[in-house]
Amino acid sequence: MNELKLTNNAGRRAGKTAILIIYTGGTIGMYRNPESGTLSNFDFKRLVSFVPELQQFDYDISSYAFDPPVDSSDIGPDQWVSIARIIADNYDRFDGFVVLHGTDTMAYTASALSFMLENLGKPVVFTGSQLPVGELRTDGKENLLTAVEIAAARDADGQPMVPEVCIFFENRLMRGNRTTKINAEGFNAFRSFNYHSLAHAGIHIVYERQYIHHTAYRLPLKPHYRLDRRLAVLTLFPGIRREIVAAVLGIDDLRAVVLKTYGSGNAPQRPWLIEELQAAQQRGIVVVNVTQCAEGAVEMARYETGKQLLLCGVVNGYDSTIESIITKLMFLLGEGYQGDTLRQQLATPIAGEFTLHN
Ligand code: ASP
Repeated sequence: MNELKLTNNAGRRAGKTAILIIYTGGTIGMYRNPESGTLSNFDFKRLVSFVPELQQFDYDISSYAFDPPVDSSDIGPDQWVSIARIIADNYDRFDGFVVLHGTDTMAYTASALSFMLENLGKPVVFTGSQLPVGELRTDGKENLLTAVEIAAARDADGQPMVPEVCIFFENRLMRGNRTTKINAEGFNAFRSFNYHSLAHAGIHIVYERQYIHHTAYRLPLKPHYRLDRRLAVLTLFPGIRREIVAAVLGIDDLRAVVLKTYGSGNAPQRPWLIEELQAAQQRGIVVVNVTQCAEGAVEMARYETGKQLLLCGVVNGYDSTIESIITKLMFLLGEGYQGDTLRQQLATPIAGEFTLHN
């Protein structure tokens, strides 16, 4: 894939805020084929021609465009590494980064980047749209313009307002690894159910500073590029058969399983289920419990149906989103953690991705 094309070649000119827009693809940059009625991608230049307002910013705006642009259903670990590299390689030349991305898997990419970009001290703002930027009622223009403004925003001390990987959509700025796509139709397509929004955009952009992550020390950015996909997701449902559970847990080479349970982390009380989970853990597979509910956290000690999982060694995923726990496992496995060291790493938030309850 030949996705790297830096336009403008600028970076920062004296005194100006420099923003890098990374265009990966997605509806924001698509057009409707009049014959087939389907949406296809067009290139970044054409996208920008629909948003001439970008020129009104007093910032130096440069861009990298994936060529060809990629529908986000086709984006995965390889592209996450590309985006992380683009940011790391250009980190010193820009004050903030905007990533234009399809909405379908945006929450996965934003979550992955939050783990891969250790010591991030600058904004990385993901956005996209539900309607292509060329359509009359598009939401793409406002999303893009506001994302650029957020990426450039500084506080009274001149520090970046939101030095985090985040998603801006419609009127909310959310922490990327707390966010989920919840609507295939509406403009307000993303939610952060278990963490406060970082900002709201109305007449003014109002930042919720107490919820934004800031570090006292500025350490150099430390990008991580190794991701390991040896994991699986097992969703429980009433009537699930042992063969299904055994087939997933029996996959060769598996290192971790995300178990999607009911409510506060509960599972049916079937001896065979506990036997399968115990056997998997004895084979070195780490099992993490996250709830199928959109809001709230796993609390395995609350009911007998959850306690049986706790007692057999299942790890608490607390209030992690599915996007966050999957990408975090890929990151931690990529860093070489397995078995007990992986369990230890899972117990501590890396980038504000879950809330530690007692
Ligand atoms: N299929 C598109 C994508 O995720 C949808 C969108 O951008 O909203 O790339």
